[in-house]
Amino acid sequence: MNLSKSKYCNGIQCKKMLWLDKYKSDVKEDVDNSSIMDNGNDVHEVARKLFGDDINIQFNENLNVMIEDTKEALKCDKVVITEASFAYKNNFCSVDILVKDGNFYDIYEVKSSTHLKDVFKTDLSYQVYVLTKLGYNVRKSFVVIINSNYEYHDHLELDKLFIKIDLTEEMIDKQKYIEDNIKGINDYVDDSKEKESVISINCFEPYKCPYFKYCTSSIDKPNVFDIRSLSNKKKIELYNNGFKNYKELLKSNINDKYKMQIEYDLNNKQDYIDKNKIKEFLDTLSYPLYFLDFETFQMSIPKYEGVKPYMQVPFQYSLHYYDKNGVLKHKEFLGDSNTDPRRSLAERLVKDIKKDTCILAYNMSFEKNVIKNLASLYPDLKDDLDNIYNNIKDLMIPFKNRYYYNKDMHGSYSIKYVLPALFKDDPTLDYHNLDLVHNGSEAMNIFANLSSYSADEQEKIRKSLLEYCCLDTYAMVKIYDYLNDIVKE
Ligand code: SF4
Repeated sequence: MNLSKSKYCNGIQCKKMLWLDKYKSDVKEDVDNSSIMDNGNDVHEVARKLFGDDINIQFNENLNVMIEDTKEALKCDKVVITEASFAYKNNFCSVDILVKDGNFYDIYEVKSSTHLKDVFKTDLSYQVYVLTKLGYNVRKSFVVIINSNYEYHDHLELDKLFIKIDLTEEMIDKQKYIEDNIKGINDYVDDSKEKESVISINCFEPYKCPYFKYCTSSIDKPNVFDIRSLSNKKKIELYNNGFKNYKELLKSNINDKYKMQIEYDLNNKQDYIDKNKIKEFLDTLSYPLYFLDFETFQMSIPKYEGVKPYMQVPFQYSLHYYDKNGVLKHKEFLGDSNTDPRRSLAERLVKDIKKDTCILAYNMSFEKNVIKNLASLYPDLKDDLDNIYNNIKDLMIPFKNRYYYNKDMHGSYSIKYVLPALFKDDPTLDYHNLDLVHNGSEAMNIFANLSSYSADEQEKIRKSLLEYCCLDTYAMVKIYDYLNDIVKE
């Protein structure tokens, strides 16, 4: 078969993935990697400037055109080429950055990650193989990743933003296996008879396989793969030890938290309620009571002062609150997407939340982290922001600690599961009924790209962002009310 860098990496993850691509691609599921892809493209564009001027080989569906364009560019004695393209037999690859220095060639594989992963080495080794087989003298080979400690100040410093990891020696060692790997992949895929799926950690790593549902369709439902928050490693361990369906899992060594989920699912049990514990939690809260939720975005390449790669940059918040008389009110903030939204957001936040009042967040570590970063960025607001930070309490606690559990939570204490489990069929609390923005990733992506829309569209999107974030805190209010009702009963 025709291999590329990504197909070779998929084949190393699991040969059956490529077999299914060829013979049964209709059973493939969508695995959403859109934000990862966007980040990747961003990073590649910036990394191109690492070595000064370059010749970029334009993408062409006809790969031969790219290969011919590369040959033309390689006529220069010293040149930097991005997307230089080569094929050895049926093995094609494009090199992110190729530096030609006379008769020597250095390969740079650029990744938007902040960590070196094995799959990056697999990817790089395949490129070294193709170029070496074609007779190019590959002198050095690198993976380029992002330095998570880099902090943007005034202008972008590429040498500090990127880390070049020299893997030349390791790549030389890996060459011995590549020919066998390619042969193994081809033999497997050329045989049209379907082989049994081998469920292993490779179904999840390095990337979630889009054929997982198909490959596990013969296992009784619900099964070990339906248990939320259990690590994939543990799921595979249980699966391999014969604990597959829920009945079998009750005899396994998984902890009581998971057994509770299984028993509730199997036996359709009534809600578990520890009224005393819920009351204890509620007694720690006082009016006026705020419900706070931030929306943030992340930049692989930072462009605002003091921002590190992938740092959470807040651009919006919603704030419901019960005033001292118990009347519910709402405030909100949505930043301008063309400028750094943090200063105006922080100023509004300290005005909107009165000092020494009680604030609820759901999974508060996220909100606290955002506030901590704002406090270190703006010393003049630090006291007020610290005050908010110190008064935040977590509405997730009653669910995380299982003071309350019902089977529709399916073992999760995330608000996205708790909310529909408490309020079945309530259209006012259903995120599906929102227009344009239905979850945090959509909010993040649409805000980051807001300037690419027309003025009319931007207005509509901003309205949708406000509605989405407002629902997040309204949902918290409803959950809080629900807990109060329980203890009153
Ligand atoms: S789900 Fe697992 S076994 Fe099936 S193709 Fe994917 S990686 Fe292979």
